[in-house]
Amino acid sequence: MGSENRRPEMRKDNVNNRWVIFSPARSRRPSDFKSKSNNNNNNQLECPFCLGHEHECAPEIFRFPPDSTSDWRIRVIQNLYPALSRDIDPSSLQNPNPSPISGGVALSGFGFHDVVIESPVHSVHLSDLDPVDVGVVLLAYKKRIQQLLSHDSIKYVQVFKNHGASAGASMSHSHSQIMALPVVPPSASVRLDCMKAYFDQTRKCSICEARSDDLIIDKSTHFISIVPFAATFPFEIWIIPLDHSSHFHKIDNQKATDLGGLLKLMLRKLCLQLNNPPFNLMIHTCPLEDTLPELPYGHWFIQIVPQLTVMGGFEMGTGCYINPVFPEDAAKIVREVRISG
Ligand code: AMP
Ligand code: ZN
Ligand code: ZN
Repeated sequence: MGSENRRPEMRKDNVNNRWVIFSPARSRRPSDFKSKSNNNNNNQLECPFCLGHEHECAPEIFRFPPDSTSDWRIRVIQNLYPALSRDIDPSSLQNPNPSPISGGVALSGFGFHDVVIESPVHSVHLSDLDPVDVGVVLLAYKKRIQQLLSHDSIKYVQVFKNHGASAGASMSHSHSQIMALPVVPPSASVRLDCMKAYFDQTRKCSICEARSDDLIIDKSTHFISIVPFAATFPFEIWIIPLDHSSHFHKIDNQKATDLGGLLKLMLRKLCLQLNNPPFNLMIHTCPLEDTLPELPYGHWFIQIVPQLTVMGGFEMGTGCYINPVFPEDAAKIVREVRISG
């Protein structure tokens, strides 16, 4: 049935514990969705992330390959303008003081905020890298998360990527960011609680279950890409490990390369179908305290969200989202995008 003939429907997101309204009446035909915004393209000559400009960056944490000089492929560096500071004594977190302002609780802003420069070349995007090199970017995230794990005060690590100005990017050179937080953030704790409640009811993992044929876009040896049943945003994609796995940082080299291939394919399909949209990419993993053993209900995944709609008062007021594109329609469209070469 074409989405234009469908009635609105509310779907429960069993991972994020929210309701999404699917309302095709509010949209053009799903296949007509295109990004209108111009992606920012800050001047290559002034770009500190480019090869040869390393001295304009905050200190480096590591690079791949480790002993490379001008032939580096990836650099992980400190953020010059970090949201949280690694220079605060983490022991100050132990006694959160009631704030004198309105009796709220305040913690010192201890944490880490790093940048991953994904290529030495300004014009090369993540989706231009070959699968092995996308895999190396993923392995750089893994290595940095493992380093951050040694800090007892770090409770959660968020890996994310902003691409394009309206997705929050201030730099056009391909990069992503890693933030290590002294708390488990609300979206992670709501997700974990929701997945645990689903598991307690069904004895099943809600992410292992999220694989209906209508929603599948593609599969690799170890991963599957889908549009989730209750996708919050139009053309949102999740990439999920086929085997149940709680923590992203347990990925091995072979799986990273395999994931690199599927991630590249999804980014290229979105770029072609939606006219190089601004997008955000997030890795949703489990809190670090729960590293051992595997959580039967916690399953990591990558979420890719092309920025095609704006969040308005309804979404802010209710926490419910309106998505004009039914997930099975979005999955079919993305599945059928042909990639040459
Ligand atoms: P975004 O704003 O998502 O494009 O992320 C780019 C990040 O790079 C921002 O968080 C900036 O604070 C950070 N940044 C900008 N210039 C530098 C620099 N020279 N060295 C390190 N980090 C930087
Ligand atoms: Zn650059
Ligand atoms: Zn699972």
